[in-house]
Amino acid sequence: MRDFSADHRWLSINTATVRRQRGQDWALLEIIDACAARGIRAISPWRDQVHAAGLAATVRAVRDHGLELSGYCRGGMFTYADNAGRQAVRDDNLRALDEACELAAACLVLVVGGLPGALAGRAAHKDIAAAREQVAEGVAVLLEEARRRGMPLAIEPLHPMYAAERACINTLEQALDLCDALDAGRTGALGVAVDVYHVWWDPKLPAQIVRAGSDRLLALHVCDWLTPTTDLLNDRGMMGDGVIDIRQIRSWVEAQGFAGYSEVEIFSTTNWWQRDGGEVLDTCIQRHRQCV
Ligand code: ZN
Repeated sequence: MRDFSADHRWLSINTATVRRQRGQDWALLEIIDACAARGIRAISPWRDQVHAAGLAATVRAVRDHGLELSGYCRGGMFTYADNAGRQAVRDDNLRALDEACELAAACLVLVVGGLPGALAGRAAHKDIAAAREQVAEGVAVLLEEARRRGMPLAIEPLHPMYAAERACINTLEQALDLCDALDAGRTGALGVAVDVYHVWWDPKLPAQIVRAGSDRLLALHVCDWLTPTTDLLNDRGMMGDGVIDIRQIRSWVEAQGFAGYSEVEIFSTTNWWQRDGGEVLDTCIQRHRQCV
């Protein structure tokens, strides 16, 4: 297992971690400058941040600073209520894929979607099995295009509390079942993003990480689970402030050969988003050394 205590060579910052500091959007190009100034070598930006900064300008900034992208957030949201929705989902995912290629991301992260309409407050139906079928279809279609472009797809299972609104794939086992169904040859085109926040509780986690193996382990996202958690989406903790044994999970993925970045991804309305962005980045570096 790699020793992270002396440097932060393998720290990546998911840029949502510092997206909105003290009520002000922190522009992506400024985030990139602040990361580079601290010797951070990788980021994982969100599409809305890239669109606001401009794709070409983001590509330039990433290249000029010699940064890597540990992933691109995100594609997915494959479930739909009608044919127009189905086409819109496909078109949007193709755009996400092309942006990921322009940015030379390590993978396109997929948050697969829940019941159609639920995120907007009104689910079109209650058939989660049907939603999962649409997800399988959506990933299959996107996978063909992803293979053509050489851009790996990383399915991110989300904690079951998000099953209705955001993702009906909720365990690593489910995600790997889909990988096996669509990419039986383990070509490297399809894998998973392991986010400790979503999977730390799962008794099958160590066995499923072994099952994934290095060719399916495309990304590792870290933060912490606070007790109590006051918001289901935006109360993620800084590493070391909660109950997740992050180093244990990292040891499991590294035992399989994973040698990529640990990507810090913290959504925190009342704590970390209320602070100066530079302070948050400095804290990420420190906790990455101590707790990851
Ligand atoms: Zn994540």
